[in-house]
Amino acid sequence: MEATADSVRQEARDWIEQNFDPQLSLRAWLERLADSGWAQPRWPAEWYGRGLPPDLAALTYAEFNRVDAPGPPAGLGIMLAAPTIIANASDDLKRQFVRAVLVGDHAWCQLFSEPGAGSDLAGLQTRAERDGDEFVVNGQKVWTSGGPVADYGMLLARTDPDVPKHRGISYFAFPMNQPGVEVRPLIQMTGDSGFSEVFLSDARVPASAIIGQLNGGWAVALSTLSFERTSLGSETGLGFRLTAPGGSRFAEQQEASVGEFIADAKANARSFGIGGMAMTAGGITPLVRLARELGRDSDPVVRQELVRLYTLASANGWNGQRARAALRAGGRAGPEASLGKLMASRIGRQWRDTASLIAGPRGMLAGGDGPLGGRLASQALATPGPSIYGGSDQIQRNIVGERVLGLPREPDPSRTLPFRELKVGTQAPAAAEES
Ligand SMILES: Cc1cc2nc3c(=O)[nH]c(=O)nc-3n(C[C@H](O)[C@H](O)[C@H](O)COP(=O)(O)OP(=O)(O)OC[C@H]3O[C@@H](n4cnc5c(N)ncnc54)[C@H](O)[C@@H]3O)c2cc1C
Repeated sequence: MEATADSVRQEARDWIEQNFDPQLSLRAWLERLADSGWAQPRWPAEWYGRGLPPDLAALTYAEFNRVDAPGPPAGLGIMLAAPTIIANASDDLKRQFVRAVLVGDHAWCQLFSEPGAGSDLAGLQTRAERDGDEFVVNGQKVWTSGGPVADYGMLLARTDPDVPKHRGISYFAFPMNQPGVEVRPLIQMTGDSGFSEVFLSDARVPASAIIGQLNGGWAVALSTLSFERTSLGSETGLGFRLTAPGGSRFAEQQEASVGEFIADAKANARSFGIGGMAMTAGGITPLVRLARELGRDSDPVVRQELVRLYTLASANGWNGQRARAALRAGGRAGPEASLGKLMASRIGRQWRDTASLIAGPRGMLAGGDGPLGGRLASQALATPGPSIYGGSDQIQRNIVGERVLGLPREPDPSRTLPFRELKVGTQAPAAAEES
């Protein structure tokens, strides 16, 4: 019988009724959830999912959220590493890594960007040289989100400099906890240090940890970037409202019971707040509440901007539904994903501007005394991020222009020259002129 919205909801509800037990340890609950396939129901059934189409899978989270059941650890492991491994890696690597993400054994980071390679990612200079059964890695990465707590990195490194830049890159499941890896946190204007510089000096990675083919890493990287665009631009990427801590550094926290974990999360308003909701239609709710509290809800400009936010977020939600329907019909998430990502950064800016309009000078107050418990200020300061990470707004527009509208590709003579002959990073002409 084909799954329907009603049958899937009912199945999730029945499973929760029989299996959800707040007295279980967090670890035991995560294992139960992973092995049931409900942790990521859109993943294939043989790799800890249930093979559900994305639109049906998205419906199941509400059932878990209704009882505050925690989901698997959020972060780049579940968002990017595991889907990339499922789509591209050997069964051995899938066995080693997929379940470990869901039960919280491994946290992941993304070792893509370098000081001279962001939008021009294929110009990356970190190199990996073969030494017996291993590769020796040297280079520098930057903007590495979650670097200090990651157990593994999705590492792009150059394994053949004698061929054009896109053809000599390999993609490794790279162990972070080793002597050749130095992670230096970078402080952002929010005061947090969400990302880091990572220095790789004679670090080692087994040859068996290549995801995809040797020198075939660019195609694998594109699949990661596609997962990134899809999840950054969609509402359903949020899934479980409450997620468990993940990674070896948080192993102790997983000894707490599920009930204790929920109580603690509620007391600290963790994951129950606005967070990523700012970009969904639901993100309007705390702002309406704030406008009422501050007596700003009858101001016509405030009302207009609130409705603009709601309209943009709703339209983006429908665009996401369109992408999921295309996937379900056997197509690929293509233009909708780039549009969704572009809209997410537009909606983020609308949220920030509307929130600041409502709060006035108070909006600058950080800390618990500030509007929305200080989250207005922190969210406002974090707003530029989405227009840069996962491919900047300009790059998303290039993608839409070239792949959707069929405009000519940007001229790029470096695509055909051997990497060794290119001037990249600090040697690139623009950088050389500035210095
Ligand atoms: C919050 C945050 C988290 C991040 N996390 C990670 C992470 O975990 N791992 C990781 O590897 N990276 C991460 N990044 C890095 C991110 O992917 C890069 O910042 C991004 O790809 C842009 O690269 P860049 O910073 O080198 O800017 P550049 O590529 O130097 O771009 C500078 C400007 O030029 C524009 N530009 C560049 N090329 C073109 C072009 N061809 N056409 C039109 N305009 C162009 C860009 O849009 C931008 O405005 C993160 C970034 C942020 C802000």
